[in-house]
Amino acid sequence: MNALNAKDQPVPLLDFSRSYAPLRDEILAAVTEALDSQRFILGQPVADFEKAAAAQIKANFAVGCASGTDALWLALAAAEIGPGDSVITTPFSFFASVSAILRAGATPLLADIDPVTFNLSPEAVEGVLATKSVTHNIKAVMPVHLYGQCTYWDEFTAIANAFNLTLLEDAAQAWGAKWNGRAAGTLGKAAAFSFYPTKNLSAAGDAGMVTTMDESIAERAAMLRNHGMRRRYFHDEIGWNSRLDTLQAAILLIKLRHVEAGNQRRRELATNYARLFAEAGLLEPGPYPSKGVFLPIEVSGAYHVWHQYVIRTTRRNDLRAFLTERQIGSEIYYPMSLHQQEALASLGYHKGDFPESERAANEVLALPIFPELREDEQETVVSAIADFLS
Ligand SMILES: *Cc1c(COP(=O)(O)O)cnc(C)c1O
Repeated sequence: MNALNAKDQPVPLLDFSRSYAPLRDEILAAVTEALDSQRFILGQPVADFEKAAAAQIKANFAVGCASGTDALWLALAAAEIGPGDSVITTPFSFFASVSAILRAGATPLLADIDPVTFNLSPEAVEGVLATKSVTHNIKAVMPVHLYGQCTYWDEFTAIANAFNLTLLEDAAQAWGAKWNGRAAGTLGKAAAFSFYPTKNLSAAGDAGMVTTMDESIAERAAMLRNHGMRRRYFHDEIGWNSRLDTLQAAILLIKLRHVEAGNQRRRELATNYARLFAEAGLLEPGPYPSKGVFLPIEVSGAYHVWHQYVIRTTRRNDLRAFLTERQIGSEIYYPMSLHQQEALASLGYHKGDFPESERAANEVLALPIFPELREDEQETVVSAIADFLS
């Protein structure tokens, strides 16, 4: 009676063990070598990883640091954005996109998202510029390449040129993503990456990186991550300790060699999800589904690396409970728009201020996607969703 057929097997949201197993020997050898060297702070693996990472995305410079959150903070500080300045970003992201602006001493201004990509809307940013340019010293726009898809960069470039603004990238979810052939991390004045264990390029703990095409930004980021020192024990500015750990760099150097193939596989899996959903007759075309699901799409110009595969449905919470019951992993990124977060109440926003972001927070659901996910597991996921919706 309890005989499980393939369709009843659990499907994990993410399975680290599958990506670790084939790399285990290589990773252990690299860790052993780093330990044997007994050089733990800014050792050779850090410099090697920075060089290889920059080369892979064709950035001129890369500066490793302790986390993606610190990378955001370093990018802002390196671009000399601080007290008295305002930065426009999205309310639909991980908390750090906004908290880093506050940590840098600047003021976050939020603008609503585009309902199709969930990325910051260029039109909404123009709206904020039209109403707040007089009252706020708006210095920068920091879009997030959410779920692994670059935001509409041509529009943001035009806006930045028109208003003389600095563009920064929260590229935490977008290692390997591109916009018109140029990699995330090379589009803005500076970009922040996270190598948190769930990210497409991931460490065995916390790690992050600032990338830039601009030598002076790289030089400042490197100085600020190491107590504002250019010369040992001579401090030019108040920096902080946010160095990339040598052991993490040694591991990341190995992972870096596999991330492009992993991203390519994620793209195949995304295409396969789209086929399966279409075959099951569950699709709705618009961004506002009523009975079916709206699938994520790759917009023209983007090379999406599918950090997440996020569908949209009005019955999101019930669907999630149903999937959990069937032991199918799913997650909500993110269940509450940032302008409604308790910690950000002082920004003065209210419910209703960003309707698209609020609606997305109620409707998005991330399904399993990782390079080692199997196609039969995708079939299990889609047939469970079909069962729920029928
Ligand atoms: C993961 C993430 C961060 C923070 O990175 P950490 O390495 O966890 O500090 C920032 N922004 C976005 C969009 C993220 O997804």
